Amino acid sequence: MANQVKSDKDYSQYFQPPSLTDAKKRGKEEIAVHYDFTIPEDMQEFGKDKYYLIRTYGCQMNEHDTEVMKGLLEHMGYQTTEDKNQADVILLNTCAIRENAEDKVFGELGHLKALKAQKPGLVLGVCGCMSQEEAVVNRIMQKHAFVDLIFGTHNIHRLPTLLKDAYYNKEMVVEVWSKEGDIVENLPKKREGIRAWVNIMFGCDKFCTYCIVPYTRGKERSRRPQDVLAEVRDLARQGFQEITLLGQNVNAYGKDFEDITYSFADLMDDIRKIDVPRIRFTTSHPRDFDDRLIEVLGKRGNLVEHIHLPVQSGNTEVLKRMSRKYSRDHYLELARKIKEMLPDVVLTTDIIVGFPGETDEQFDETMSLYEKVGFDFAFTFIYSPREGTPAADMEDNVPMEVKKQRLYRLNELVNAHSKASNDKLLGQTVEVLVEGESKNNADVLAGRTRTNKLIHFTGSKELIGRMVEVEVTHAQTWILKGEIVQKPMKLSM
Ligand code: SF4
Repeated sequence: MANQVKSDKDYSQYFQPPSLTDAKKRGKEEIAVHYDFTIPEDMQEFGKDKYYLIRTYGCQMNEHDTEVMKGLLEHMGYQTTEDKNQADVILLNTCAIRENAEDKVFGELGHLKALKAQKPGLVLGVCGCMSQEEAVVNRIMQKHAFVDLIFGTHNIHRLPTLLKDAYYNKEMVVEVWSKEGDIVENLPKKREGIRAWVNIMFGCDKFCTYCIVPYTRGKERSRRPQDVLAEVRDLARQGFQEITLLGQNVNAYGKDFEDITYSFADLMDDIRKIDVPRIRFTTSHPRDFDDRLIEVLGKRGNLVEHIHLPVQSGNTEVLKRMSRKYSRDHYLELARKIKEMLPDVVLTTDIIVGFPGETDEQFDETMSLYEKVGFDFAFTFIYSPREGTPAADMEDNVPMEVKKQRLYRLNELVNAHSKASNDKLLGQTVEVLVEGESKNNADVLAGRTRTNKLIHFTGSKELIGRMVEVEVTHAQTWILKGEIVQKPMKLSM
């Protein structure tokens, strides 16, 4: 359903507030796959001598959407710039997962208002997950009327046409599809560096009660295996050293296929045979993480020993209220099976503290689960309600002071585990993919181990993009330091 609005008077009919009941009714409608994407002829030179800047917020899914938008813009002749004064198009690719992510975007819009006043020809656009929320679109239309273009997550491929409309229309162009779109293959992508992201599916059907994603990204749609494999093979040919498979719940990959039986484990087993040094995936859902996947990961090779497995809480009652659809025991058993297959695995996780109704005892179960599993690291968050989600209707009854204390205790534990697991690597030699110069010291190289740990060491810049072996000499909480012990293992692209 493509609804384009060019006036701020009649927009309300085009947006549906997120509705759990409606979203859950979404059925098994055919998702068409389009292979015939082209940039409209009249737009192919549209960006000649013009510059674009995209600011990306949020997750890797958004980072990858930005790569697609960059690809589209560069195929239209635009060039990239980091200087907002030079830019003819500025897009904010937004994140809706937490309130502070939204605050940042509104803050940025405030800064850009003056620039837009100085440079009326500038096209200022807002896209990504926030654009899928009715309240956000309302707020932009009412309070940030200088924005030229709003589009959502399902119609990125329409960017060339939307941009043209924004140039020629005096009023804000808004095109947000309330229903998820089909899958569009063959979109141009601008990838940089030695690591690449590949979407294997879109959307999420899990409906965790605190999460806005099933509404902003739509229902689960898997790309056809042959399309994913072709993209990975192509990236391997181009010399990419590391590929991360992306989806909100990669373990549900293939569940929506009606004509074939092909799961995430099958996909991993096929990708394992492609000549790319490292394959990662994110994000996993414990409920759908099955034994067959564990078996395939046990074959190792380019499948790395790092699994990010969000647990969110260590208490079964809280998990139930979150509608995570697994229990504490299920999670512990899953972690046990993974470790049995991969004793050296690094497990990392996401945890929310202070979910509605969480008692001290229930939080203590999160702490004890963290110890029991022996995570290496966690992204930790204080719960805050997202408008339109079922949890927003629950009483947010854990006082902020208590939430902060719990977060503090949890972070102390996370830090201690991280340091202890880094200490264990002292004296060991690890395989490192050299990513570039360290952010703070150009004389130092930065790379990552197979388990995704950051390591700094000195070496020639020629090593960037290559695999080297490094002996770990110092272990800090968040970073390792080391010395190269072997010549490059593999030439980069
Ligand atoms: S599985 Fe992840 S993306 Fe899907 S609803 Fe739950 S938290 Fe959100």
